[in-house]
Amino acid sequence: MRILVTGGAGFIGSHLCEFLLARGHEVVCMDNLLTGVIDNIERLSADPRFSFVKHDVTGYLVVEGALDYVLHFASPASPHDYLEMPIQTLKVGALGTHRTLGLAKAKRAAFLLASTSEVYGDPLVHPQREDYWGNVNPIGPRGVYDEAKRFAEALTMAYHRFHGVDTRIVRIFNTYGERMRLDDGRAIPAFITQALAGKPITVYGDGSQTRSFQYISDLVDGIWRLMQAPVTVPVNIGNPHEMTLLALAEKIRRLSGSPSEIVFEPLPEDDPKVRQPDIGRARTLLGWEPRVDVDEGLGRTIAWFRTRLARA
Ligand code: UDP
Repeated sequence: MRILVTGGAGFIGSHLCEFLLARGHEVVCMDNLLTGVIDNIERLSADPRFSFVKHDVTGYLVVEGALDYVLHFASPASPHDYLEMPIQTLKVGALGTHRTLGLAKAKRAAFLLASTSEVYGDPLVHPQREDYWGNVNPIGPRGVYDEAKRFAEALTMAYHRFHGVDTRIVRIFNTYGERMRLDDGRAIPAFITQALAGKPITVYGDGSQTRSFQYISDLVDGIWRLMQAPVTVPVNIGNPHEMTLLALAEKIRRLSGSPSEIVFEPLPEDDPKVRQPDIGRARTLLGWEPRVDVDEGLGRTIAWFRTRLARA
């Protein structure tokens, strides 16, 4: 296949590009490098089946030649980033999804939207199943991301129903691994960077809020299975192993052999109290199951951060 990956220089996007190339596909990677990093795709550039286009997907899109699949992964995705770039976040979720769907329709390509567990907001149903409609504050600070992704899902379904585009929606839960930006502000990169520097580990609130963290290779496997399955309803992809943020901080401190103390800072507004995917649909429809447990995944991620920090 010839596949366009928007946001291909980002954390998840670059892993996807690498995976697809390894399976013999041709990849066009598009990124405006707002939160994507050219370093992430440097090794891929030597492959003749890989090309990079620096472009903002909210503007008119021109991609020469045929496309079989459009994977729309462009967006700031860390709360820290989307609070700093609220308008770009809304635009890439709304206008960018419109452009990429239009491109998929014109090229008669299939389309996959990277959606998010944030569509469930601060959930009142736990764990979150795909048929839960969510609890989102549209005017809160996280609304720029949550509502853009909810709009993106609605637009994807409209292109599917009205224009017959072959679409997929993956709702991605917290994901971590190599190539996350050191300064991206999310819990795992923040805790690892702090632990490795022997600085205080900053837990927001009392640390009793929960998340469920999946390792990047499990996510990529889930996306690949979804791309090939005739499933147009949204599918959660995440690791159901739920833990408190305080437990995560302690685990990272232990795994990295760090002397850091844990300090508590104010909880950001609208921070979801709990989050855990129900993965029944992915199990049944895709035969998918996460395989990397959190100690193993964090171990690999910490090793990568160590090397990265030594270079910085
Ligand atoms: N968090 C924290 N310390 C940090 C960064 C994040 O305690 O330095 C908390 C944050 O308040 C949230 C959880 O970790 O409860 C996960 O935050 P993240 O930014 O990774 O993503 P989210 O799941 O909120 O989208």
